[in-house]
Amino acid sequence: MPGKSLIIMNTDIKIMIELQEFWNKILEFQKSIGRLKKSSLFWEKELSDFKKKIASLSDNITFNKMELKKFELELAATDDKLKKFHLRKDEVKNEREIKALEMEIDEAENSKDALEDKILSKIDEIEHLEKNSISVSDELIIKEKQVSDDLLKINEEIEIMNQKIMKNKSEFDSLYGSLSAAVSLKFMKLLNSKEGRAISLINGEICTGCNFKLPPSVSMDAMNKEKLVSCTNCGRFIYSN
Ligand SMILES: [Zn+2]
Repeated sequence: MPGKSLIIMNTDIKIMIELQEFWNKILEFQKSIGRLKKSSLFWEKELSDFKKKIASLSDNITFNKMELKKFELELAATDDKLKKFHLRKDEVKNEREIKALEMEIDEAENSKDALEDKILSKIDEIEHLEKNSISVSDELIIKEKQVSDDLLKINEEIEIMNQKIMKNKSEFDSLYGSLSAAVSLKFMKLLNSKEGRAISLINGEICTGCNFKLPPSVSMDAMNKEKLVSCTNCGRFIYSN
């Protein structure tokens, strides 16, 4: 424009800078949602691990109770055997037979002692497991409450982020319509292929999008704000302040 010393920035550049700002916000909110979803998965896994722990404790208790039952039956059978031995003792007269019977009685008494020990320690073990199971179940109640509160908060935050994304997206969409047809398609392609960044500021001769040094002619062109220039390395649109 003759007589005008002020350099007017190319309209498309101005619009793209604004669009990029909306896009950056959208990406930032999407990242936050990703983080929030990760932490909600973490809490859900914690809870399910906890439930698995309780289930395995309960299986362990069932198994030990079955073992206890088995020992109790064995003890009852040994008692029966002993009673029969003692009854027979009254009938046996022969010295050799008495000796043999006494040996059998000794053996049965020993296994009775051993079974009684086993039963006592099984009862202890079951008691210990049951106490443990109660305390873990109590912990689970607290944890479930905590996790459901956390998940509620996380979902609320996700909802807020989604609303912000929608708001920025609609502002982006309405502004995108004012971008000239010559650059709009390329701009969108760059957004979707270059880590969500389609336009980069140049810093001296460096493109801040890819950190490459631009040829002097290109950076000179970019200094002229009326010209639409692309980085020779990354292909992003470039502009200078
Ligand atoms: Zn570049």
